[in-house]
Amino acid sequence: MFINNAQDEVKKREKAFEIIIKKINNNEELYDLTGLSGGFLLNDKDISLLETYVGSAIFENKLQSLGKEHLSGEKILPVNRTSSGILATILALVPKNTHIIHYLPQLPAHPSIPRSAKLVGAKYLEFDNINEFHIPENTSLIIVTGSTMDHQIIDLNEFTKIIGMAHSQNIPVFVDDASGARLRTIIFKQPKAYDLGADIVVTSTDKLMPGPRGGLMTGKKELIDQIKLKTQEFGLEAQAPLTAAMVKALEYFNPDNILNSIQNKEELANLLSIDFYHFKQSPTGIMISENGILNELKMRNIETQLSPQELSFLWAMILLGEENILTIPAVGMPGASATLRFDLADNSAQKLKIDTLFNKIQNSFHKLEKLATQTELAKKTLLQ
Ligand SMILES: *Cc1c(COP(=O)(O)O)cnc(C)c1O
Repeated sequence: MFINNAQDEVKKREKAFEIIIKKINNNEELYDLTGLSGGFLLNDKDISLLETYVGSAIFENKLQSLGKEHLSGEKILPVNRTSSGILATILALVPKNTHIIHYLPQLPAHPSIPRSAKLVGAKYLEFDNINEFHIPENTSLIIVTGSTMDHQIIDLNEFTKIIGMAHSQNIPVFVDDASGARLRTIIFKQPKAYDLGADIVVTSTDKLMPGPRGGLMTGKKELIDQIKLKTQEFGLEAQAPLTAAMVKALEYFNPDNILNSIQNKEELANLLSIDFYHFKQSPTGIMISENGILNELKMRNIETQLSPQELSFLWAMILLGEENILTIPAVGMPGASATLRFDLADNSAQKLKIDTLFNKIQNSFHKLEKLATQTELAKKTLLQ
């Protein structure tokens, strides 16, 4: 093993960035299938407004109505990242030594939740089995993840049951709906989290929408005001340029892009099922877990010293370097999921034909088969 800690993951990310810079300087086309391709759709007029104080007043005001249309709720709050919204909420609502109880359809939780809990000295419990879920005494906040980092979607009955249990004890419910605010509602036709009874909701403005990496929050006005204060005290709020780009993303957001990806992912899944056994469909694409990758190699009698996580990073780095396909394991932050996902809902994916993508996945896998048995070369590919 040569990826042993967060520092190593940072190095891997820097290596991926070097490759990206070279490709952009060569005018090569990159296909961003992270599902996080984002967007910053400002025009000259927007930018000239940003240069004045009025700009931030205007964009924040516009964000109120667009944000409520997207998320419902009494008051909208833009923050620097979804993680910033999570931290600010926990800082505002969770006293030391009280419990935070987190329910999600499948572990692992986004790391910002347990990290924030630790920072305030809270006791943190997480569940992904509704039969084990319970609310201990002295609980200050219930968190529900609507759609996980791997796009596992919460069951609607479980969702409403948890909200009911929390509210019967007057405990506020905070929904981490980073991708869920779109996946749950558009593909699974679930209601918006606020309309289901959540008190606070955060979503990510670059997940399945053409926006900047940022967090958009909604909720009960009284709670949002407390959280807003924390964002300003600790510098977690969205600055005016981010708010402006969020406004644009909400204006341009089109649910049809997400719906169109369903047919494409089914076609791709069918092509892959001939040679591969461990790809699964995600709501808007296909994915293979780190252990699934190891199993594909084992089935082909390939022995490797690399860990499943390293295999996923390596495949992602080959996809980037050789096939110009960008996925999260190549560029993810430390602690991000190592599931290799190919998300087909973004504009970038719509430029790529499905059989071309299929060939790129196959070619890169053949390279992975070779590199998996050459540990030194694999290490070089990822870190140097
Ligand atoms: C992406 C994501 C986050 C964090 O988003 P950042 O932009 O990295 O802060 C939090 N929770 C879930 C479930 C996510 O998918």
